[in-house]
Amino acid sequence: MTTGYVFHHAYLWHDTGTSAGLLPADPAAGIQPAVHIENPEAKRRTHELIHVSGLLRELLVIEPRRATMTELLRVHTPAHVQHIRTQSDRRGGGDAGDGYSPVGHGSYDIARLAAGGLLALVTAVADGDITNGYALTRPPGHHATADTGMGFCLLNNLAIAARHAQTVHGMGRVAIVDWDAHHGNGTQAIFYPDPTVLTISLQQANCFPPDSGWTHENGIADGTGYALNVPLPAGSGHAAYLHAMRQVVIPALDRFRPDLILLANGVDANVFDPMARQMLTTSTYRAMTRLLVDAADRLCHGRLIAAHEGGYSPFYTPYCVLAVLEELTGTTTRVTDPFATVVAAYTAEPLRPHQQDVIDEAAHLVSRIDATATSATRRSADRTRQRRDDSGHPDVLVF
Ligand SMILES: [Zn+2]
Repeated sequence: MTTGYVFHHAYLWHDTGTSAGLLPADPAAGIQPAVHIENPEAKRRTHELIHVSGLLRELLVIEPRRATMTELLRVHTPAHVQHIRTQSDRRGGGDAGDGYSPVGHGSYDIARLAAGGLLALVTAVADGDITNGYALTRPPGHHATADTGMGFCLLNNLAIAARHAQTVHGMGRVAIVDWDAHHGNGTQAIFYPDPTVLTISLQQANCFPPDSGWTHENGIADGTGYALNVPLPAGSGHAAYLHAMRQVVIPALDRFRPDLILLANGVDANVFDPMARQMLTTSTYRAMTRLLVDAADRLCHGRLIAAHEGGYSPFYTPYCVLAVLEELTGTTTRVTDPFATVVAAYTAEPLRPHQQDVIDEAAHLVSRIDATATSATRRSADRTRQRRDDSGHPDVLVF
């Protein structure tokens, strides 16, 4: 088993400027500017820990490339891609769409390099060079929809990777698991009517975006049943997340029988993160990754590709990612979580009834997933796509 690893120092050059936590800085309104909360530090320290711990030697380092226009347009509208490019060309940069997603000068190419990092991993998995992989990319992607950037995200890296796997490598069914503390709304919206891509998002209820990611958001048209949400109450910890994985995520994957599992690895549900109020530790990320690795082994020859998403604690994010990577590689380093004893007492929360209620509600929806039905839909979609390609039309979304 070989684990691929994508990182590029240009990811750290995406310039987000200033903010005041989750708000844009606005001195006239009394909001003091500080270093933007989505800054390179947590990612830089994560890469350094992967190196210093010795884990880097166990990984197959894969160079990212820039995603092409054709690849971006499988997911995004031409107007959105052009908007990012225009903002990026401006000397002072701009915003990707919602006023909360800075585009630095030159960030267009960096965002393409982030999306392309995932594409390189998908191709390496398809070619059999690696079994699984991790892309320590920046900017993040899971809030970006087809036509706008959102929540620090410019391009939806994982959605672009899912379409690449389907279109170029013939992987019909792709599952995207998202355990970032915030709802993977962009990924969900992109695939909402599509039964060939199962999206499962575990997030802090009603955090970001507001009023998004409820259990009743379950897909539309042919995609009904193929979007799952587990909106866990603030304060949820190890027991609640593991219960959600065992009752919802793993049974859903077993029913869907994906050809590839993608993971939106936001680690901002960790106990120290300033952007959410969940209680996860490195042990939780380790255990959740182990469950996904086992599911990938059982269902799709181990094919599991993780993209880095949120994670805003500069000192704890690196250990959470190291735990994920150790499970992907099946090895351990000499570095253990130095905060484990500090947090042990207050993160040992049992599963609470109000958490279990939400998980039960989501678990009831798992039976709507039908791998046999998606095979038929997939064949029909493949024929449609083939006709489009043959006609010389741009290779855009066909669903
Ligand atoms: Zn997040």
